[in-house]
Amino acid sequence: MDFELNDIQKSVQQTFKDFVDRKVMPHAAAIDENAEFPIKLFREVGDLGFFGMRYSDEAGGTNMDVVSYCIAVIELARGSMSLAVACTMQSLMATYFLYRFGDDEIRSHFDAALRGEEIGGICMTEPNAGSDLFAIQTKAIVKEDHFLLSGQKTWVTSAPVADFFTVLAKTDNHEKLSIFFVPTKLDGVHVGKKIDKLGACGSVTSEVSFENVKLQKNYLLGEIGGGTKYLMEILAEIRIMTAALSIGVATAAFVAALQYAKERVQFGKPIGKFQAVKIKLAEMEVQLQTARHYVFYAATLSDKNLPRHKESMIAKLYASECANDICDQASRVLASYGYATDYPVQRYLRDARFTLIGGGTSEILKINIGKELGL
Ligand SMILES: Cc1cc2nc3c(=O)[nH]c(=O)nc-3n(C[C@H](O)[C@H](O)[C@H](O)COP(=O)(O)OP(=O)(O)OC[C@H]3O[C@@H](n4cnc5c(N)ncnc54)[C@H](O)[C@@H]3O)c2cc1C
Repeated sequence: MDFELNDIQKSVQQTFKDFVDRKVMPHAAAIDENAEFPIKLFREVGDLGFFGMRYSDEAGGTNMDVVSYCIAVIELARGSMSLAVACTMQSLMATYFLYRFGDDEIRSHFDAALRGEEIGGICMTEPNAGSDLFAIQTKAIVKEDHFLLSGQKTWVTSAPVADFFTVLAKTDNHEKLSIFFVPTKLDGVHVGKKIDKLGACGSVTSEVSFENVKLQKNYLLGEIGGGTKYLMEILAEIRIMTAALSIGVATAAFVAALQYAKERVQFGKPIGKFQAVKIKLAEMEVQLQTARHYVFYAATLSDKNLPRHKESMIAKLYASECANDICDQASRVLASYGYATDYPVQRYLRDARFTLIGGGTSEILKINIGKELGL
C-alpha cells in the first residue's frame, strides 16, 4: 500500500489544517464550555465542501476518497471534537441513505444538508437497544398509502437542531430493520431532553420520540426489511471515520504534552529531559504513528474497494484505545495543569472517551474480530 499523500490529499490537509488553526482552535474551549451547537463553524465547514466529500459530483459532492476524508476528520477533531462529531454525522450517517434512496423531494433535503443549510441526525439507539440494535422496538405500521411511526430513541447527535432524521424501525409486517426519512417538523415528532455529557459537549445530543408520525410512502428508504443490509454498506466507513476522530484528538493531546515537556522546568531542567517523561512521550509517539498508519491503511483498502470489514474494526479499536491512553499520558505529563480547565488537555481526555463508544464499543469490536478469526 502506498502511504504517501497525493497532491489532492495534501491540499485537503493544508486547507483543513489552516481552517482549524485559524478558526476552530480559538473557539474550541468555548464550544465545549457553552455546550451549544457551533452553527457558525458548522456552516463554514460546509463551505469547505466537507459534507459532500464522500458524494459524487452529480450528487453535488466533491467525490473525495476515504483517505482525504480521514485527513479532514483528523484535522477537525484535532481542533474540536464537538465540531468534528457534528460534522461527521452530517457528512455520513445522517445523509447517506437520503443520497442512496431519496426521490426528488428527499434529495432536496440532501442538497440542503450538503450546503449545511439543513441539519440531519440518525436515530438508531433506543433506551433498551444500544449494541444490540436488532432489539429496537420503534415500529412503523404499514397503511394503505402511508406508515405510522411510533417509538423512543436516545443519544441522537444533533437532534436539538435537526431538520430531519434517518430512523431505524421495524415494520409491523417484517422482523428485520427498515430505514425511514423523518422531517422533524411532522406532527408527533418530539425532540426531548438534551443529554448532558462528559465530553464533545458542543455536539448536542437528545432523546427523540415518535408518536403516530404519519410518513408518506416515499419516506421509506430502500425496501422494507433492507435496513441491516444497507447499514452494512457504510459500517466500515463509520468505523474508519471514528478511528480518524481518535487520531485527531490524540494528536492534539500529544502536541500539547510534547510542548509542555520541553518548556516546564523542574529540578533545573525541562521535564522532557527526565527519562520517565521522555519514555512516556516516546511511547505516545509510537502509539500515535502506528494507529495513524493503520487508519490510513484501512482507508486505502476502502478506496481500493478491497475487503476491509475486519481492518475497519481493528482501526477503530486500536486508534480509540491509543487515543485514550495518549490523552491519559498527556494529562500526567501536565500534572496539575492537565487537571485545570484553563488548559485543553482535560478536554481532550474527556472528548476521547466518545471514541470508545461510537462505531461499536471496544468489547463488541473484539468479539467481532474474534468471529472474523473463525472463533
Ligand atoms: C456522544 C454519543 C453520541 C451518540 N450519537 C448517536 C446517534 O447519533 N445516533 C444513535 O443512534 N446512537 C448514538 N449514540 C449511541 C451509541 O451508538 C451507543 O451508545 C452504542 O451503540 C452503545 O450502546 P449503549 O450505550 O446502550 O451500551 P450497551 O450496548 O448497553 O453496552 C454496555 C456495556 O456492555 C458491553 N456489551 C454489550 N453487549 C455485549 C456483548 N454481547 N458482549 C460483551 N460486551 C457487551 C458494551 O461493550 C458496554 O461496555 C451515541 C453515543 C454517544 C456516547
